[in-house]
Amino acid sequence: MIDASLERAIAANLAVVRARMAAAAVRAGRPADAVRLIAVSKTFGPEHVLAAAACGQRDFGENRVQEALPKMAACGGTPLNWHLIGHLQSNKARKAVGPFAAIHSIDSLDLLRRLDAVASGEGREVTALVQVDLAGEATKFGAPPGQAQAMLDEAGRCQRVRVAGLMLMPPLLDDPEQVRPYFRRLRAFRDEQAARGVAPAHLAELSMGMSHDFEVAIEEGATMVRVGTAIFGHRPATGP
Ligand SMILES: *Cc1c(COP(=O)(O)O)cnc(C)c1O
Repeated sequence: MIDASLERAIAANLAVVRARMAAAAVRAGRPADAVRLIAVSKTFGPEHVLAAAACGQRDFGENRVQEALPKMAACGGTPLNWHLIGHLQSNKARKAVGPFAAIHSIDSLDLLRRLDAVASGEGREVTALVQVDLAGEATKFGAPPGQAQAMLDEAGRCQRVRVAGLMLMPPLLDDPEQVRPYFRRLRAFRDEQAARGVAPAHLAELSMGMSHDFEVAIEEGATMVRVGTAIFGHRPATGP
């Protein structure tokens, strides 16, 4: 049972976000529907997910496997695509393969290989993005460009993991214009890798942009944006 006022609020927010996404895409000379919206439902319950699903939203992002699994079970009857956007420890790879259609946070060669071994063992496919750390921030997850390059070179050897592009979690800066250079650098890194001969299929997606900067990310080439607060409202301050 979906709460009617919750559904109205989420429907209104989704409409605004989708309109802003379409406008940003058109500004950048791209089709209005060029970008996929991933609704980040971390810290929110299944009722929020189902309310968004009732408005046609199909892609949802979660940053912790343990939090996501019961939520997925609670949304069981509805066909949804779940994206893991938070750090994945190698020893949790087995839990993530299967429930998640895509994992955006592959940040080491070791994790990529481990994931492929698990997916191959279970006969499952999973889409993966290489999370690149362009800020050199020790506190952040993500592979430095040299390691990311090694992971892209490994992509062609993966059996069951389909490496489909790159993901960026830029430094937290209030002004979206301050974030723009990071988005540009991810796109430039993508172009460099293509020029080196990495297959286009491994570089197709750029997952970048959150509630406060998704329009700038789209202007700079994002193909997926990960938006939580602008759809579901503010998370509790203590939440992840
Ligand atoms: C929480 C989170 C988001 C969404 O952040 P909002 O500012 O609420 O839109 C996007 N990406 C990642 C990796 C996150 O952890």
